[in-house]
Amino acid sequence: MPFSDLKKWTHDYPLLEDIIQLKPVTWLNPYKQKMSDIKSLPLNIHDMNDAEALWHRFAPYLAKAFPELQKTKGIIESPLREIPRMQQSLVENNSFAPGGRLFLKCDNELLVAGSIKARGGIFEVLHYAEQLAIEQGLLKKTDNYEILTEDRFKDFFSQYSIGVGSTGNLGLSIGIISAKLGFKVSVYMSADAKAWKKNLLRTKGATVLEFEGDFEEAINNGRAATHADPKGYFVDDENSKYLYLGYSVAAFRLQKQLEELNVKVDDEHPLFVYQPCGVGGSPGGVAFGLRQVFGDSAHCFFVEPTHSPAVLTGLLTGKMEKISVHDIGLDNRTEADGLAVGRSSAFASPISKLLISGCYTMEDDELFRLLYQLGTSENIFIEPSATAGLIGPHRIGQTDYIRQHNINPGNIIHIAWSTGGVLVPEEEMKGFFEKGKALFQSGVGVAG
Ligand SMILES: *Cc1c(COP(=O)(O)O)cnc(C)c1O
Repeated sequence: MPFSDLKKWTHDYPLLEDIIQLKPVTWLNPYKQKMSDIKSLPLNIHDMNDAEALWHRFAPYLAKAFPELQKTKGIIESPLREIPRMQQSLVENNSFAPGGRLFLKCDNELLVAGSIKARGGIFEVLHYAEQLAIEQGLLKKTDNYEILTEDRFKDFFSQYSIGVGSTGNLGLSIGIISAKLGFKVSVYMSADAKAWKKNLLRTKGATVLEFEGDFEEAINNGRAATHADPKGYFVDDENSKYLYLGYSVAAFRLQKQLEELNVKVDDEHPLFVYQPCGVGGSPGGVAFGLRQVFGDSAHCFFVEPTHSPAVLTGLLTGKMEKISVHDIGLDNRTEADGLAVGRSSAFASPISKLLISGCYTMEDDELFRLLYQLGTSENIFIEPSATAGLIGPHRIGQTDYIRQHNINPGNIIHIAWSTGGVLVPEEEMKGFFEKGKALFQSGVGVAG
């Protein structure tokens, strides 16, 4: 990127100066629209209903193929937990009382893939498998999909290859479900991907290819190699409608969970949802779903590391997926798995531009500190990246947003979306916790 461009941008968008200097920033989205003002989007609620129906067709298969899903009859869903002790800890340690109730959407507990990628990644592979089997006359939508565990289906799928580029978690979800169905699957991993994720994938039967560079290099290599195979299918995190749809279904599930807990949502009792963001596909899909289901009562915020603000940089400058954080001189280095992404999803970002309320960035140290606080206050242990939403009430509370929207802060239902954790090896988690504890006790990384 020529220096003159950068100078013009920092002039046009002063916030970019802080972003370049790695300062934690909060950005309220001036392009957000009311649902009634949005004329058309590439997807709608009927697509979400179709996606939910696909999950239900595959439920008997999933229950049979993954014994851990028998209890839920093949439905992969996470609990919604209220976390008042963590809320108290946040109040005490940040001398700020956001008001309202604080919940954790526990996608860190999602079975099979161990992260939010269980929604998008598994959905896209199931969608592709169904399409192939139906085209070949092997399957009808009215069949009991348990038959997909039979060897004849595995033999059939083994002619096809699936590829994906990943910093770790997407690779896990695509690798695990693809190998189980019988596909040949290759996962192209960036240098920052954790060793345990690569090892786990290999034990599940996936081929893991490692790259020296970051996510961009892994995904570009994976895309080229997979497309070179006439029977290759690439799950493209930088441009996937199906990942997005898989994520969006979470909104139906959340609606039901809130009803079961007798939590009313309307304009006077709005939802504020804070989601860790990489390419913007998972938070984008969920935000899209939430705006479809709850309309203007859903206020969605994305959270990115100060070193990898890919979506924020794209939205702020209007360059969307055309700009990478490297273009503004950032290194895209973060401990937050899944968020070490320099460029936003071309599919998700234009929709997010109309639907989300804003973005904020935070430092890695703060993620670890929150990990420690959540562990000690609620006995819940999640990946560093998954903690990013916990500070949302505090960060948005410091802006004018709530007052501008005439919202009574005491009525807000805050949901921090916890995106991964259950598969993290105990030793690794202990390391995260100890690091968080040391930071917490020395006061480093206290939310500003
Ligand atoms: C992938 C991931 C995200 C972000 O999802 P994107 O679709 O890349 O925005 C957040 N948290 C975790 C743990 C992830 O694995």
